[in-house]
Amino acid sequence: MNTLAATELRSDTFTKPTPNMLTAMMNAAVGDDVFGEDPSINALEQMAANMFGMEAALFCPSGTMTNQIAINVHTQPGDEVICEEGSHIFYYEGGGIGRNSGCQARLIKGNRGQITAAQIAEVINPDDVHRARTRLVSLENTCNRGGGSCYNLNEIAEIRNLCNAHGLSLHLDGARLMNAIVAQNEDPLTYGKLFHSISLCLSKGLGAPVGSVLLGSKEFIKEARRVRKVMGGGMRQAGFLAAAASYALEHQVERLAIDHAHAKKLGMVLSELNWVDSVLPVETNIVIFAIKMPATVKQVSDYLLQYNIRVSAMSSTQIRMVTHLDVTPEMIDFVIEKLHDFSM
Ligand SMILES: *Cc1c(COP(=O)(O)O)cnc(C)c1O
Repeated sequence: MNTLAATELRSDTFTKPTPNMLTAMMNAAVGDDVFGEDPSINALEQMAANMFGMEAALFCPSGTMTNQIAINVHTQPGDEVICEEGSHIFYYEGGGIGRNSGCQARLIKGNRGQITAAQIAEVINPDDVHRARTRLVSLENTCNRGGGSCYNLNEIAEIRNLCNAHGLSLHLDGARLMNAIVAQNEDPLTYGKLFHSISLCLSKGLGAPVGSVLLGSKEFIKEARRVRKVMGGGMRQAGFLAAAASYALEHQVERLAIDHAHAKKLGMVLSELNWVDSVLPVETNIVIFAIKMPATVKQVSDYLLQYNIRVSAMSSTQIRMVTHLDVTPEMIDFVIEKLHDFSM
């Protein structure tokens, strides 16, 4: 058993509620949300919708569920969903596109997870009985497997124009959208105008213990509420969780800049180490780097684990580190010291 305090860099999902967040949770007014009577959930949904200038919102247990509900509401069985090949909706949701909605994915290889309007235009199917009906485009911002990369808003605007021209819906997996907004100094309202639906995780860097919100039009969210119930995601007195989420949106957005600075510091050090092959550009709170042979991902991970520094394997040659509110400046310095000490 390692007695050093853990430096948890595997994911920003490991964040624990702060004392003030716990107080907000303890004081939450609750009711039965399936009856629409949980005041804390209603307040969170209203706040999130207002923040993005969307008509309505729906609180769900996870980001996988908000994404899967969105796909289900936007499509009919047999339709095609355009997304990037490493996108969470395709890569990490257990085959949910096919399983939950009977749709198939049309994959595009992006640049650090990002796809362009030109690439999408090439894979929209013509109206032909042989072809699946293209129905939905889904983007991810920030892109997890792209190393936390951020989209350029002009590119998204072009994609939206293309979707309009072809009658397609545009969904955003914004699990870490607040990281992009803080890093790029953007206005959430811009995103509300560009997308038909947005999924936002409260349980990642924002620091709430559980939950995601789905944003969209009134009509869209009404249908989404029905699908959430079918999927078993209708919760009762979940206002305790919504209170944590509201607290996160009110108090823990701006501080994401600290996580970004920590990640940049790690990225800079890594790029100078002789056993590191390359580091993906660090734009937010994710650092993905490739190890140089003969060192292996396992060697490096096991070495760091001796000091209770936890990282995750992204591929056979890549390691991912994610910074968040439970990673202190002292921990970052400690990690840097240990990275310097590693030798093949
Ligand atoms: C974490 C994540 C999600 C949702 O994950 P849950 O664990 O189901 O909340 C969705 N998209 C991306 C890009 C993510 O990183």
